[in-house]
Amino acid sequence: MPAELLIALIVVAVVAVGIIGFVVTRRPSSIEREVAQARSPSATVGAPELGNRLSKSRTAIGGALKGVFSRQAMDEDFWNSLEEALIGSDVGVTAAASIVARVRSANPGTPDGARQLLHHEVLATLSGRDRDLHLAGSPAVIIVVGVNGTGKTTSIAKLAKRLDDAGSSTLLGAADTFRAAADTQLKAWADRVGVDIVSGQEGADPASVAYDAVAASKARHKDVVMIDTAGRLHSKKNLMAELAKIRRVVERETGDIDEVLLVLDATAGQNGIAQAKQFQETAGVTGIVLSKLDGTAKGGVVVAIEQELGVPVKFIGIGEGMDDMIPFEPAAFVDALLGP
Ligand code: GDP
Ligand code: MG
Repeated sequence: MPAELLIALIVVAVVAVGIIGFVVTRRPSSIEREVAQARSPSATVGAPELGNRLSKSRTAIGGALKGVFSRQAMDEDFWNSLEEALIGSDVGVTAAASIVARVRSANPGTPDGARQLLHHEVLATLSGRDRDLHLAGSPAVIIVVGVNGTGKTTSIAKLAKRLDDAGSSTLLGAADTFRAAADTQLKAWADRVGVDIVSGQEGADPASVAYDAVAASKARHKDVVMIDTAGRLHSKKNLMAELAKIRRVVERETGDIDEVLLVLDATAGQNGIAQAKQFQETAGVTGIVLSKLDGTAKGGVVVAIEQELGVPVKFIGIGEGMDDMIPFEPAAFVDALLGP
């Protein structure tokens, strides 16, 4: 074969591979990819910064563990104190016992060996969960639920900002029509982030506001619609019935709801778990936003929440600002909490 023909063939092959590669990587120009970018570590605060934000928990558990690991003898007292240190951080009694049992059965020869194994085991309890946002619909629908004051509206604003930064257009639906100031608050956030909002009158039917928001998102070709909901109605039964109705109405309109995010306030620690179970039953929760981790010494509650509810923590709130919600990354979190 003449050399020119060989070179020409190689050039054609390289160009073809390049084009195929371009098409393949471009094809899921869907929101999933944009959200993956929104979740990428580069878009999150760095490790030392996360340590600062979690300093209340870090100091509390760090102090307790320092006492444990400075002991000379690795006797029964040593293991009991280790378990108590974990329980003190709100890891939960069951999880604390099983973490300590696993560390112990690995037979560390020194307290420092136990410290390293502890780090490993805490991380292991948080590993293997799918923490991505799955936004396949067009528009993709995210419903945000949770008790009053946990941080729903703020978290919606923060997530809208992340999606917007990643290139997804977003519309907010103000279906918390119970509190007079609720839609004003969401409107203020929508203006700050620069996204559209659909709201109803105070006292309007929340499900119809949700419906209008979805319809407007379709008409305006938005990628994502996020529905804010009330955290309190005249009774808990009313609230749960209302959330179920919002689900039904939205499902009828779009076929599918992509994510139902439950916002839990980390400062409530494990007290939030019982109420979470109710939301889980009624609303079909797909992920948890754990807000206000910056304001609590009980950061270990992440472990208890995932163990008790079996739902992944997808985002954590670490401050009141627009950029203060980051994807939950177990490795960075455990480093921030326990030190590297
Ligand atoms: P909602 O009633 O569930 O919608 O709660 P809001 O979004 O109105 O939030 C209630 C309060 O919690 C507000 O003062 C927020 O600024 C505050 N908040 C929300 N998320 C966080 C967080 O991650 N850290 C801190 N420190 N405050 C937060
Ligand atoms: Mg609200």
